[in-house]
Amino acid sequence: MFTDRLDRARELMATQGVDVLMLSVGADLPYFCGYEAMPLERLTMLVVPRDGAATLVVPRLEAPRVVERPDVFGVRSWDETENPVDVVAELAGSAAVAAVGDQMWSRFLVELMVAMPSVSWRRGSEVTAPIRSVKTADEIERLRAAGAAVDRIAGRLQRGEIELVGRTEAEVSTELSRQIVAEGHDRVNFAIVAAGDNAASPHHEPGPRVIGTDEVVLCDFGGTMVGDDGVGYCSDITRCVYTGEPPAEFNELYDVLFEAQAAGVAAAAVGTPAQDVDRAARSLIASAGHGDYFVHRTGHGIGTEEHEDPYIVEGNREPLVAGNAFSVEPGIYVPGRWGARIEDIVVASPDGPDPLNRVDHRLAAVA
Ligand code: ZN
Ligand code: ZN
Ligand code: ZN
Repeated sequence: MFTDRLDRARELMATQGVDVLMLSVGADLPYFCGYEAMPLERLTMLVVPRDGAATLVVPRLEAPRVVERPDVFGVRSWDETENPVDVVAELAGSAAVAAVGDQMWSRFLVELMVAMPSVSWRRGSEVTAPIRSVKTADEIERLRAAGAAVDRIAGRLQRGEIELVGRTEAEVSTELSRQIVAEGHDRVNFAIVAAGDNAASPHHEPGPRVIGTDEVVLCDFGGTMVGDDGVGYCSDITRCVYTGEPPAEFNELYDVLFEAQAAGVAAAAVGTPAQDVDRAARSLIASAGHGDYFVHRTGHGIGTEEHEDPYIVEGNREPLVAGNAFSVEPGIYVPGRWGARIEDIVVASPDGPDPLNRVDHRLAAVA
């Protein structure tokens, strides 16, 4: 699998005129070699020449963490007194064009630019994103398993099995995080809990606000399930519940959102430009008069990273291809009052849109 992925990267490097690909901190590295760099000050870097063997440059003290895959990459560990930038520069040889992972620390890029003054630099994602954004059947099954896990948590939320009233947002967030791990994830990526007017802030940080009766509680949560090969796949879901009977005005808003989200999912077919999925959801919200309250794009790709290509946003005319996996998550946010969002992960498949989150989309009234 890793060999296939690197072969594909080399093919793209050839068509793009990239001589060497350098991957460090971030999701590219585990995707291409099964090793995740510690996000610290010591440089870890996979150096992939277009022609030639890949080498993982790793601090000596972290080398024991590396699962060696000699058919995929060699290991070059560096000592505390060595300069890893020199090691990378030597491995890059006479490369004229280098693509470097988007999330590598800038201090290393600056040092590499000094050590390799004649090289021109590109974003690593120009090579990696086209590969990562098209999921294989195995990757889709892993995303499906992660989706099913958060569906089970959302179901408990909707059935009132997760206590809300009288607890703080932060306490409920901790509870959701615990369940994310209990359901098989290795990492919690986030657990947004936003009650009442806090639900009007799409990326609200759960805090000390105590959840009361008769208010909306928006929960947006997900984690990463890491496989035996060291590669992790993410979940991401949003559902809203109401602690009491929702007022008619909120039900009206929610019904619009419900239709808009379903329209977005239905539009997510192979060949459809990504922006048309956004338009399908947005047009319904706009024509109901809530357009100014839908303040973000409709979705983001998901895979080994929570947010990756393709982005479901106006201006992205790229047609969806089979294997693209992304969120469809319109929201309506009325500042000072309330807000709501519904989010599923959807895969564009030859048989049509394949939603990985199937738990009820309606607004559950919980006591
Ligand atoms: Zn978000
Ligand atoms: Zn989310
Ligand atoms: Zn999302």
